[in-house]
Amino acid sequence: NTTSMAIFPSHLEDNRRAAKRLESVVGTQVSVEKETEVLDINSSPTIEMKNVSFSYPDEERETLNGINLSFPVGTKSAIVGPSGSGKSTILSLLLNFNKVDAGEILLNHQDINDIDKESIWKHSNVVLQENHFFFGTVKDNLAIASENATNEELQDVLKKVELEHLQLNSQVLEKGANLSGGEKQRLAIARAMLKNSFIWMLDEPTSSMDSLTEAKIYEELFQLAANDTLVLISHRLNGLEKMDQIIVMEDGKVVEVGNYEDLMQKQGYFYELKQIEQSVFQG
Ligand code: ATP
Repeated sequence: NTTSMAIFPSHLEDNRRAAKRLESVVGTQVSVEKETEVLDINSSPTIEMKNVSFSYPDEERETLNGINLSFPVGTKSAIVGPSGSGKSTILSLLLNFNKVDAGEILLNHQDINDIDKESIWKHSNVVLQENHFFFGTVKDNLAIASENATNEELQDVLKKVELEHLQLNSQVLEKGANLSGGEKQRLAIARAMLKNSFIWMLDEPTSSMDSLTEAKIYEELFQLAANDTLVLISHRLNGLEKMDQIIVMEDGKVVEVGNYEDLMQKQGYFYELKQIEQSVFQG
C-alpha cells in the first residue's frame, strides 16, 4: 500500500504539492500513497474539516478556501448554495475521492489520509448525482450493497423508495438506460438504505423527483439514519427544518452555518436565497 516518492521531500503535504506540479507538467496523475489503517467503527463517527483548501489540477483559482466544519456524531447536515459554489467538492474530499491541498479532514479525530480509503467507502452510504448501474437484474444491482439480503428485505427496501412496481428479476440495462432519472435515484437510495452503514453522503439524491415522493423517501431515510452522521447536499431550500445544521456555501467559502430557525432569523444569505426560491416558484 506504500509507494514513496523519494525524489520529493519526505513530508506528505509537500509531496502532494510536488505531485500536483508534476502532474501539470507530465499530464498524468501521480499517486502519493502512504501506509494507512483500516477504518474500524461500530457506531457513527464525528467528521471535521479544519482550514481545508482545495483546487482541481490545472485550476488557478481555489475551489474551496479555508473551510472549517464539524459534523458531530449522529448529526444531520445540509449543504446548500448556488451551482458551482463547491458543495460536491466538499463531499468528494470527505470521501477522500480527492485530497486536500491544505488543512485536514479528521474522522474520529484521525487524519483521513491515514485511513484506508476503501474502508471509508465500506462504512459510507453514498448517493451521488450520477450512480453506477450495470446490466443485470434489479436484484443484482441492489445486492452489491448487501450480498446476504433476502428477497423480502430487497422488496421491502424497494417499497421504501416507492419502486414496488419493479420486480427483483426486472432487467436493468447498462448505466440504468431503461430507468427514468427519478427511478435511478430511487434505486441508488435503495442501495444506500440496504447498506445501512454509519455514514451517509448524499449529493442531491432526489433532484429528479417530485416533492411528494421526495418527502416520503426522506422520511424513510431519516428514520434509518437516525443515529448516523449524515451530510446531504440539497438543491432545494425547503424541508430543511429538521436538519441539525445548514451550511451555506458561496464561491468556495462557507458563508453561514446554523439551523433553519437561526438562519431565517438572521435574515442573511440563506434567507435571501429562500426569498429568491419562493419568488421563482410563485412565478
Ligand atoms: P452544483 O450545485 O452545480 O452541483 P457545486 O456547488 O456542487 O455545484 P462543485 O461541483 O463542487 O460545485 O464545483 C465547484 C467548482 O469546481 C466549479 O467551478 C466547478 O466548475 C469546478 N469543478 C468541479 N469539478 C471539477 C473538476 N473535476 N475539474 C475541474 N474543476 C472542477
